[in-house]
Amino acid sequence: MNSSQSNGTKKIVIAIDGFSSGGKSTFARLLAARLGYIFIDTGAMYRAVTLYGIEHGAIKDGMLDRDALVGMLDDIDISFRFNPDRQASDIYVNGECVETRIRGIDVSDMVSKVSSIPAVRERLVAQQQRMGRGKGIVMDGRDIGTVVFPDAELKLFMTADPKVRALRRFEELKLKGENVSLEQIERNIMERDLDDQNREVSPLRMAPDAIVLNNSNMTLEQQMEWIAPILEEKLRA
Ligand code: C5P
Repeated sequence: MNSSQSNGTKKIVIAIDGFSSGGKSTFARLLAARLGYIFIDTGAMYRAVTLYGIEHGAIKDGMLDRDALVGMLDDIDISFRFNPDRQASDIYVNGECVETRIRGIDVSDMVSKVSSIPAVRERLVAQQQRMGRGKGIVMDGRDIGTVVFPDAELKLFMTADPKVRALRRFEELKLKGENVSLEQIERNIMERDLDDQNREVSPLRMAPDAIVLNNSNMTLEQQMEWIAPILEEKLRA
């Protein structure tokens, strides 16, 4: 039996990329739960580094000191722990849960700047590749199918209308009690899309072998129905 198989079931790597707030994590989390796979939200890792930078003085008043942040990388230990209440993994920095704090608009406003630093990407990509070594993983981000796992058995590229994406994020943050306007979110999503597509290192690109899922008018369950036959084929192949 090779390392990608256990209990007679084939395990694969599922790479999900796409624009900000396109529903990648919600989709990926449910897919992983149904398959009994590990789910890794790589955006949370870039957010965790950004939060650390804010809390340790490398980011002040919207200004990022890149050298200072790179100098802190050795001090940032990122891990994930399963939270049974959420039925999902929470992200920890140096043993402290930061799952809620990384979603704030202060982090969202700076994360694309942080994720454009090559040393940050190198560090996080290496950790992501270690996490996926045993397969049986669903990972979402911007460069998973192109850089982190170019050999992933299944690659998806998720898109949705920008207005739909902003509204979804707005509802999500409102539920969490965040005081942020729809306009602020629309601006943030637009800026992050631009930054993510235009950065020099690992820009957001669709892998040539990725399958596009535009979920603007689809419920989560409809998305699961859409992926079912594709998955069946990949798991059989
Ligand atoms: O997925 P999420 O919107 O939480 O990601 C936050 C930011 O992290 C993105 O806007 C992007 O700048 C960065 N990111 C990245 N590469 C990934 C995942 C996220 O550059 N694989």
